[in-house]
Amino acid sequence: MFCHDSDNQRRDMTMRYLSTRGEAVEREFSGVLLTGLAEDGGLWQPAAWPRLDEAAYAPGADYAARAFAVTRPFTVGGLKEQDWRTLLADVYAGFRHKATAPLVQLDTNLWLMELFHGPTFAFKDLAMQVLGRLFDLVLKAQGTRITIIGATSGDTGAAAVEAVRGLKTIDLVMLYPHGRISDVQRRQMTTVEEPNIHTIALEGTFDDCQDLVKILFADTALREEWRLAAVNSINWARVMVQTVYYVHAVAQLGGGPVSFAVPSGNFGNVYAGYAAREMGLDARRFIVGSNSNDILARFFEAGDMSTRPVTPTHSPSMDIQVSSNFERLLHDLLGRDGPAVVRHMAAFRQSGRLPLDEAHWREVHQLFRGHAVNDDTTLAQIARTQAETGMTVDPHTAVGIAAACALRDPDMPTVALATAHPAKFPDAVEQATGRRPPLPDALAAQAERPERATRMPNDPNLLKTFIRERVCRP
Ligand SMILES: *Cc1c(COP(=O)(O)O)cnc(C)c1O
Repeated sequence: MFCHDSDNQRRDMTMRYLSTRGEAVEREFSGVLLTGLAEDGGLWQPAAWPRLDEAAYAPGADYAARAFAVTRPFTVGGLKEQDWRTLLADVYAGFRHKATAPLVQLDTNLWLMELFHGPTFAFKDLAMQVLGRLFDLVLKAQGTRITIIGATSGDTGAAAVEAVRGLKTIDLVMLYPHGRISDVQRRQMTTVEEPNIHTIALEGTFDDCQDLVKILFADTALREEWRLAAVNSINWARVMVQTVYYVHAVAQLGGGPVSFAVPSGNFGNVYAGYAAREMGLDARRFIVGSNSNDILARFFEAGDMSTRPVTPTHSPSMDIQVSSNFERLLHDLLGRDGPAVVRHMAAFRQSGRLPLDEAHWREVHQLFRGHAVNDDTTLAQIARTQAETGMTVDPHTAVGIAAACALRDPDMPTVALATAHPAKFPDAVEQATGRRPPLPDALAAQAERPERATRMPNDPNLLKTFIRERVCRP
């Protein structure tokens, strides 16, 4: 939508990355991978979008092969071709479903893409499993180690813990909002015994956790001494790897056009769909599903991006009011003008409302639509989906399906993304359907193990002290 063909990157050329805020020096893939945020506080973006080629669309390609075809141009100059191919094959071989991300038809022209067959039963695994191995590969080659610090509304943390537990090259410090994530999500992080995992239960919201991470990154001394790195959804490599399933869906449905319905929080998932579209994917529209924390839906429908207090819901991984990855879309929308991004973000931070002119908003509204549902509607959607299709979906997925039902064009094939396994949110599913989803063995085993986490008030100094005292200095 916003870029032009002349921006396209040659597939065999070293990919360079620039910051959305325009100040940081451009880097190659391995630099972008480890820093997460750019030095100027911006997010890394590829300098130009590569074009999807025939191999990316190959009918019948397995997921790992497609992942390689789609993402290879982004890693040129940073990773050897064979290393990248092998890594992807190893990761996706570890998923419980042979198809990795199977498509299931729900209705005429409505499909569900199941993204929850990885080790922690949420879509975060598709990217995080890759990220853990990528970090390890690059760090081993450099002979160094790092401290990953992250904020989680539940699923990211579990996926990150699972991806890096036991690695010699990484310490992981993961913050989650105390009392605001499900028991299953919490246990996935707190029952891990490996000493390189440090889990922190912060007395605050997910946005507070995210703010603390940003404050830590702004502390240059700490950042450099402990070699802080990020794995939350602002990490470019995650967005990059998430572009794959959009291409996979379209390839399997015969080439497009296809619309997508995506339950959204931090805007990482649906932004990856937009990125795939910039690479040439025939994606017609992105339907963004929100829970009562509806900032994205308000923005896409009415241009109103203003923060409100966070309300806990049945879909906690979307209890977010500041969607970090939105800055990436803003960057493209403003013609990749770094200083303009800085002005918009500063105004947003100060006033709590994004000042975006009407013409830009109209452009966004062409491609993105938003629909918010409250908890009652979410539960009703779980019940209805089960009654009509026999499938049990989790509350996040239900939000996406509800948004699809509200806004999809019935003549357009639409793929709703199933972002978590229903057993991850058994209370909500039971409330909706009267039946508790059976717990897969891997999750049942966790309920028996002792938990380990550090409870902490929302204070950056306490967190800095924790890191200085408890985390090995690289
Ligand atoms: C993280 C998550 C989301 C939201 O994805 P974003 O990339 O933050 O928009 C939705 N559903 C589930 C289950 C998640 O774990």
